[in-house]
Amino acid sequence: MTEEKKIICQKCQVEMEPRKTTLFYQNNRFYYDLPTCPKCGQRYVDEELVKSKMHEVESLLEDK
Ligand SMILES: [Zn+2]
Repeated sequence: MTEEKKIICQKCQVEMEPRKTTLFYQNNRFYYDLPTCPKCGQRYVDEELVKSKMHEVESLLEDK
């Protein structure tokens, strides 16, 4: 099930596009598509989503 959420940049009133973003966590680098404004480059960070992603990475690390 894919839930498509449209996120609008408050500044430019344009729809944000998913852009590959590098995130760092505990000396590990991983990539995630974060909604980014094509005009001003503002990134929308969904804290809940990042947290769950972090948790995912954490459990991957623990499995090592
Ligand atoms: Zn913008």
